[in-house]
Amino acid sequence: AILSRHFSSTPHIMAPISKETDFLVIGGGSGGLGAARMASGKFGAKAMIVEGSRLGGTCVNVGCVPKKVTFNAAAIAETIHQAKDYGFSVKETAPFDWASFKAKRDAYIKRLNGIYERNLSNDKIEYVHGWAKLLNKNEVEITLDDGTKTTVRANKILIAVGGEPTAPPANIPGSEYGINSDGFFDIAETPKKVALVGAGYIAVEFAGMFNALGVETHLFIRHNTFLRHFDPMIQEGVTAEYERLGVKLHKESVKTKIEKDPATGKLTIYYKDSTTGESVSKVEDVDHLIWAIGRTPLTKNIGLEAAGVKLDERGYIVADEYQNTSVDNIFALGDVCGKVELTPVAIAAGRRLAERLYGGAQFSAARIDYNNVPSVVFAHPEVGSIGLTEPEAVAKYGAENIKVYKTSFTAMYYAMMDPADKGPTKYKVICAGPEERVVGLHIMGLGSGEMLQGFGVAVKMGATKKDLDSCIAIHPTSAEELVTLK
Ligand code: FAD
Ligand code: NDP
Repeated sequence: AILSRHFSSTPHIMAPISKETDFLVIGGGSGGLGAARMASGKFGAKAMIVEGSRLGGTCVNVGCVPKKVTFNAAAIAETIHQAKDYGFSVKETAPFDWASFKAKRDAYIKRLNGIYERNLSNDKIEYVHGWAKLLNKNEVEITLDDGTKTTVRANKILIAVGGEPTAPPANIPGSEYGINSDGFFDIAETPKKVALVGAGYIAVEFAGMFNALGVETHLFIRHNTFLRHFDPMIQEGVTAEYERLGVKLHKESVKTKIEKDPATGKLTIYYKDSTTGESVSKVEDVDHLIWAIGRTPLTKNIGLEAAGVKLDERGYIVADEYQNTSVDNIFALGDVCGKVELTPVAIAAGRRLAERLYGGAQFSAARIDYNNVPSVVFAHPEVGSIGLTEPEAVAKYGAENIKVYKTSFTAMYYAMMDPADKGPTKYKVICAGPEERVVGLHIMGLGSGEMLQGFGVAVKMGATKKDLDSCIAIHPTSAEELVTLK
């Protein structure tokens, strides 16, 4: 008989895999787990989850969680450096012990994998470790760890397979010598010199962490600023701050080739100015080159064609706001749909779908609202953003119908510090219409990551500028500036 981990928690109980289930979830990441746990744990549906790699998906294993722990390490490095300004004599002689930090971080993730598995067991979800492929709209073939295959029939199927780092451009000789964000979490020792390519969340977060941990950091971007999907205040403010902090930014650059020294393994990156196309330069002795140029959905070879599931031209699954695909009993959500690629979005979409499918009449219209999703970039400094950027607000409402409130200041935390240690804080609130409803809120500076959630609730509730002003300031904080904007 084909056996697998079934209602399992450590130690694994081997049981036969069901031949039929009601709700079959492909992918044990943020979205798949959110959906399966709500469907089975709360509503008692017979659910199965198939995961080919590690439970928790991208976020837990090679994303948000190990990233945030590393960000915390970088923040501690900054605090140690700043402590002298507050009268501490901290010796910065011992270098950061990357190897022991990594071992602890890996152990933490392993603990989380175990907790996730126990959660499945508690919620009575059948957990199958293997790779799933659709055979048709009701049947899924699972290739188990030992190579054997089994077929499961399901009434409803959810595809929550996520994505993978986009491969580097093949036309750059030597691009394969680089690693991606998954490889970042395998780095075993503190590098001396790294290079990153990309201008989004990952490149900016990683570059900031490396730099704060004392690594010579080169960041190659195609334009003049990074985070170009964010409000111009954020793009320009954070790009300027990275340069001030010593990140070596190669703006408007294109790589021409990468060479690897076979003896040392070190890389040389050749690049030129993308505007003139001239003056080839190089960065030598690079320990790691990290491509962070976006993510690609894992929609190949999983039988979508056989089941009739439609993809868009970029390879993402086409799903409506209720997570319906082109096939009536097949649903999709999370990164594989490419709408808003964030963990809480995938979880919320999964929970709403499970409510709609199994929660009865009360939840028949449950769906996630993709508007006004707050998001934080764990950059240096942190960035928080919800709603429209200023150019988007102008395009939507017209320049004459919006009012923009801005402030820029030095947080009190820096009052005791040398000018070189002082970081910027910048806030912008964009309001629309005569009632001045807040349609965009953008913040950068210390604590922005924690600050945004509460303001996000206000924006979701339709807060106006008057509402913000009606809340008495909390003093002394940076956040108080957001309720006293003139
Ligand atoms: P995933 O979490 O990717 O889960 C998909 C799962 O499906 C995987 O475990 C995969 O192994 C499995 N799978 C794939 N194909 C099959 C198959 N055929 N059969 C069986 N299993 C399969 N988001 C935030 O909100 N905050 C952050 O700070 C943040 N930081 C990030 C940092 C990095 C470096 C990265 C890469 C991402 C980060 N994200 C962050 C994004 C977040 O991780 C994703 O949006 C989220 O994980 C998407 O969830 P998902 O369920 O759609 O997919
Ligand atoms: P992003 O889509 O955020 O950014 C990638 C950027 O890289 C592009 O916007 C582009 O910017 C640049 N780029 C694309 N191709 C090339 C190329 N060939 N050469 C040079 N630059 C290129 O992708 P990420 O990989 O950074 O992250 C993936 C997603 O994961 C994010 O969108 C986000 O949803 C999620 N994430 C969330 C985090 C958080 O919540 N804190 C943290 C990390 C990831 P340009 O056009 O300016 O060149």
